[in-house]
Amino acid sequence: MPETADGFEHTFLPGRVVLGAGALDRVAAEVETLAVRRVLLIATRSARDAADVVEVELKDRFAGRIDGVTQHVPTEVAENARAKAREVNADGVVAIGGGSAIGLAKAIALATGAPIVAVPTTYAGSEMTPVWGLTSSAGKTTGTDPKVLPRTVVYDPVLTLHLPKNVTAASTANALAHCVEAVWTPKADPITETLAVEAARALTTGLRAVLQEPTDVEARSNLLYGACLAGQAFANSGSDLHHKLCHYLGGTFNLPHAETHAVVLPQVTRAKAPTVPRAKARLEEALQTSDLATGLFDLFAEAGIPTSLKQLGLTQDQAQDAAKAFDADDIVTRAWEGTRPEGAVR
Ligand code: NAD
Repeated sequence: MPETADGFEHTFLPGRVVLGAGALDRVAAEVETLAVRRVLLIATRSARDAADVVEVELKDRFAGRIDGVTQHVPTEVAENARAKAREVNADGVVAIGGGSAIGLAKAIALATGAPIVAVPTTYAGSEMTPVWGLTSSAGKTTGTDPKVLPRTVVYDPVLTLHLPKNVTAASTANALAHCVEAVWTPKADPITETLAVEAARALTTGLRAVLQEPTDVEARSNLLYGACLAGQAFANSGSDLHHKLCHYLGGTFNLPHAETHAVVLPQVTRAKAPTVPRAKARLEEALQTSDLATGLFDLFAEAGIPTSLKQLGLTQDQAQDAAKAFDADDIVTRAWEGTRPEGAVR
């Protein structure tokens, strides 16, 4: 990417964001603004109480509900959801939950064009992207379609107060992966870099505070704000080695999505960040560390996230396959062993 703002191309994605404690009560009004008349409500199990509130507030705009979602959107789950949307004659979807709930809403939107109002309860960031994913026995298929980009995103930190510490930490690492890699992809530009730096600041500050006090509403708000910016940076700049490697590891060896990001990110950062010195320095300032890769490694280790692919269940042979597939022996070996990058830290 250019070291100055002299020349770049950037496409702003459309979409409206509402963030605040109690914002859940705004969902019905946002649905009305979109002129949606019949809502299919999708809620992850832990968001059932929130979905009850929205169901009542939607009044006669409520058309039907799906409780409980499955990770990675299996095709049969997507087909059932599309059938349900047809059966209740839905012309819009409200999804409350993490990337899995929002992913299911995207599967419906992909087939029908129904607008989505997303109410994220993790930091996965899917709500800010036009990327969809479906899994079948043949593996995971992903694609990009503007139809699946949520029209409105409502972030309510109150919904996240009881997100378990381990899920909080891993999901924050997933968001940090979005914003950190956004600075070195071929499509990175000064706007994505600025989004990424502010995202990293908010995510790091938020995570440190939430680890001390999980029900700190301000810290939870910071994490959602960071996830929003990180998702936007990722949507603009696309994937590079880190996301491709994690996608391969998760899809081929069934490793947990967010934890895989946490293990791999410091190792890819160690190799890639020196190629973008200005962004590296800005991200180090945001994380308050003197070495980005080491700072990420230590942040995740302190948050109790596994630090090696070995701990996540990957065998050494599988690691060697991944290393060959990406010609990234050093990165994968270090990630498998959980080697600390060992740069200086502040
Ligand atoms: P998830 O939605 O499966 O949620 C993780 C766990 O947290 C689940 O057990 C869920 O029930 C629980 N949970 C969620 N919110 C909670 C809350 N507020 N309180 C208590 N528990 C809660 O996982 P995720 O990490 O949010 O998302 C991962 C999925 O999203 C993957 O399938 C990934 O591929 C996809 N994703 C897609 C994009 C995209 O741009 N399309 C981006 C990031 C992730």
